Amino acid sequence: MHQSHTQHQLALIQRPSSFKCDACNMEDSTKDMSYKCVDCPFWMHKSCADAPTSFVFHFHQKHPLMLSFSLPQVYHKFAQHCRLCNGKLGELNWLYYCSKCRYFAHFQCARSRQMLRCCFTFASIFTYLFDACFFLSLHLAF
Ligand SMILES: [Zn+2]
Ligand SMILES: [Zn+2]
Ligand SMILES: [Zn+2]
Ligand SMILES: [Zn+2]
Repeated sequence: MHQSHTQHQLALIQRPSSFKCDACNMEDSTKDMSYKCVDCPFWMHKSCADAPTSFVFHFHQKHPLMLSFSLPQVYHKFAQHCRLCNGKLGELNWLYYCSKCRYFAHFQCARSRQMLRCCFTFASIFTYLFDACFFLSLHLAF
């Protein structure tokens, strides 16, 4: 059971599925374990399921951004855009946001931007980073 899909049981599977991940919207590329719903086509990477629910990203250090599995209802009135790619945020997209600053970013944009930064500084501050970056396990696989 995961907070983003509370209506059904999820099964952890070893083999990547060919479905598009419901969290990051990407087809499998991580060779990661996955969660698959036993009752419907819902599917997501284990690494997506394990993403931190709040995280201080380097591109928004004032406040931690909160993970949401859909655009919160209060923001539906106006079209909201991702600050990182400028793309529209669909109501069903996973996103990270700061309610104080009205800062929104697609889940996958926030994650890849953070990973880029980590890879860039990877060599010099490896040990520090290892503790600091929840996303590190993802790019160790690259
Ligand atoms: Zn995913
Ligand atoms: Zn389901
Ligand atoms: Zn985006
Ligand atoms: Zn903020």
